Amino acid sequence: MTKAEGLATLASEIEKCTRCDLYKSATYAVAGEGAASAKIVFIGEAPGFREDAQGKPFVGSAGKLLDLLFSKVGLRREEVFITNMLKHRPPENRDPFPAEIVACNIWVERQLALLLPKIVVTLGKWSLNYYMPAKKISEVHGKPARVQNVAVLPMYHPAAALRSSNIARELENDFLKNKELLQNPQKADEVDNFFEESGQASLF
Ligand code: SF4
Repeated sequence: MTKAEGLATLASEIEKCTRCDLYKSATYAVAGEGAASAKIVFIGEAPGFREDAQGKPFVGSAGKLLDLLFSKVGLRREEVFITNMLKHRPPENRDPFPAEIVACNIWVERQLALLLPKIVVTLGKWSLNYYMPAKKISEVHGKPARVQNVAVLPMYHPAAALRSSNIARELENDFLKNKELLQNPQKADEVDNFFEESGQASLF
């Protein structure tokens, strides 16, 4: 089975998932999308209103901002993979419950095990805390760190940047200062682990 076939199979399994209650109120599962050959995976929090309506990740205003940030560092959406910690939308975009994150982890783990990216960009605190449970995004954003055998680059969530001009500036700066790494994912092998803990991921 090719990576693309594996991702498609996973997406159809996610569509049928009942591991937590979120599928009951959602319109579509949003498994994620992008290149099967992607060396960079972006992981957000959960689908929002537009994502739920279309079954695609980051298609609302936060997605438009993400596309703008991609253009500033020479990335194209088609060459990366974009997904979320939760594959179904929480009602009214509320924060995920910890039990929902635990229930849904299996899907992002299986996607990452297939994709084997060089870099995981975490967007917001939920995906950051998956890799670095004790870290605050305000302290580590924009600083890549090695967690096991992947470079994790924590970023603010674009939705937070839409609510705060300060965060918007920080997010743009974080993209720009990591432009070389994002354009050359093989350089991720040079990222040192400068955080004390190794994170909780056990993905590969
Ligand atoms: S949010 Fe995740 S765990 Fe919950 S039903 Fe959807 S796919 Fe399954």
